[in-house]
Amino acid sequence: MSEKIKKRITENISKLMAKKSAYIDVRLVTEDNSESIVLYDGNLEDNDTTFENGIGVRTLFKGAWGFAATSNLSKLDDCFELSFLNAKTAAELVNVPLSMGKQKGHTGSYKSPVKKDPFKVNLKDKIDFLKLIDAQIKEDWIFKRYISATFQKKNQIFFNSEGTVIERDLTDIFASMMVMGIDNEGQMQRRSHELFSEGDGTRGWEMLTDPKLFSSHTGRIKDELAALLKAESLKYGKRSVILLPGQGWLQVHETIGHPLELDRILGYELSYAGGSFVTLDSFGKLRYGSEKLNVSAFGGFANSPGSFGFDDEGSPEGNYLMIDKGILVNALTSRAMINEANEKAGRKIFKESGGAARSTAFYRAPIDRMTNVNILPGKDGNLKDIILNTEDGIIVDNPTSWSIGSNREHFHFGCEIAWEVKNGKKTKILKNPTYQGHTVEFYNSLSAVGDKSTWQVGQVENCGKGEPNQVMELGHGVPVLRFDNVITGERK
Ligand SMILES: [Zn+2]
Repeated sequence: MSEKIKKRITENISKLMAKKSAYIDVRLVTEDNSESIVLYDGNLEDNDTTFENGIGVRTLFKGAWGFAATSNLSKLDDCFELSFLNAKTAAELVNVPLSMGKQKGHTGSYKSPVKKDPFKVNLKDKIDFLKLIDAQIKEDWIFKRYISATFQKKNQIFFNSEGTVIERDLTDIFASMMVMGIDNEGQMQRRSHELFSEGDGTRGWEMLTDPKLFSSHTGRIKDELAALLKAESLKYGKRSVILLPGQGWLQVHETIGHPLELDRILGYELSYAGGSFVTLDSFGKLRYGSEKLNVSAFGGFANSPGSFGFDDEGSPEGNYLMIDKGILVNALTSRAMINEANEKAGRKIFKESGGAARSTAFYRAPIDRMTNVNILPGKDGNLKDIILNTEDGIIVDNPTSWSIGSNREHFHFGCEIAWEVKNGKKTKILKNPTYQGHTVEFYNSLSAVGDKSTWQVGQVENCGKGEPNQVMELGHGVPVLRFDNVITGERK
C-alpha cells in the first residue's frame, strides 16, 4: 500500500472524528480474488474468476452506523463523507443506539500458511489435476461425476479511529468430488468427498494435492456407491446415530453455530436467516447438551478457512469455550453486539468481543459470523471403540438435505449413506438415511465423543447470512459423535 493512500485514510478518519463521530473503521481490500472450476462428467462445465478491490468505510454517529464503499480510490474522500452522511441520516431514526465500547489501538498481521500460492498455478495445470481425479472416479456404471475446486485470496488492511492497523493475507481452497448412480429401485444415489484438514498444515495448492486429504478417497466413494445401489432403505425407528465428521460439521453448523451468533440472538437476522431459541437468559444456565459436549470458537488452526487472525473490527480472533461440559457459556460475538446484549441483560454476560465480526467483501459491512466452531475431542476412543459399545444404531456420513427450524430449535437431515450397527458390529450399508430431533434434546443424548484420531476440520465455503447476502467461509473441527434414542428413517 502506498504511504500516500495510508495518509489519506488517516486524515479522513481524523476529519470525521472531528465531526463528532464515535468510531470509524476502514477496510482497504487490495486483493479479493476467487477462481472456481467445475468438471461435470469430465468436461469443464464452469470456470469463474473474480478480481475485486476497493475500500469500505463504516462510521458510528449518535448510535447509528453509516457505511459506504468504492473501488475507485480517487473518490476516497467522497466515500468517507458518504459514510458519515449515511450515519447522520440513520441517527435520526435510531431506536437502540449502538456502542462499540473502547478498545486499545493496536497493530498486527496475519497470513495463512501457504507453500504454493494457488493463483500461481496456471489454469491448465489445475484442470489437468482435476481431470486426473475424474479419470479415477470414471466407471461405466457410474451415471454422473462431479468435481469442483475453488481458490480464494483475500488481502486487506484494516484501520480504525482508535489507531488500530491490521494487515491480513488469507488463502483458502475448497474442493469436492461426487459420484452418482441409479439404484435397484430407479432412485439416484450419490457418494461424495470434500477436501478437509486436520487443523494443522498449510492452506496452499499443496493442500489440494495431498492425497490423504483429497485424491485418495476416489476408490472409497466408488465402492460405497456400488454398495448403496444394491442396499435396502433405512427403516423408521428410534436408535443411536453415529455422525462421522462429514455429517457432524453440518449438524454443528446449523444447530450450534447459527443459534449462537449474537446478532441472531438479538433479533437482527429475523427477516432473513432467522432467530435463535437461545436467549440472553440462557447464558450460564442452559444445559445445551450432555456433560460430554464441549464446544469452542477457535481461530488458532493454521489450516482452516475459519482462521483469520483478526476480525473485520480489528479484534483478535477468539479462542474460548461456548459450551462447557454441556452448559452454554458464550456466543459468537462482535463489539457492538456485546455492548447491546450486556445492556439488555443488565449484567455483563460477554467480557470482550469474540472477534467474529466478518465481512464478505469491501462493499459489505461486517456482521457476526462463525469462525471455527468446534466440538472438542472426547475420551470414548476411536470409531471402532464407539461401534463396539453400540447396541442398535446407524453410522451416517455426508448430507443430502437439511431443514432446520428458523430458530434452530429442531432439525431434519438426510445423509448419503448409513452403516447399520447391531450389538457392537457394523453389519450392512443402508440407503436413504434420515434423522431428526429437537436441538437441546438431541445434544443431551450425546453419549460418546471420539478422540483426537477421529477429529477432522470440515471446510465450509458458502455459509449465507445478512441482507444483502454475505457468503462466508469457515471451519468446523468435529470428532465422531454418538447420540441415542434418535428418530431415524421415514414413517411410511
Ligand atoms: Zn450457515
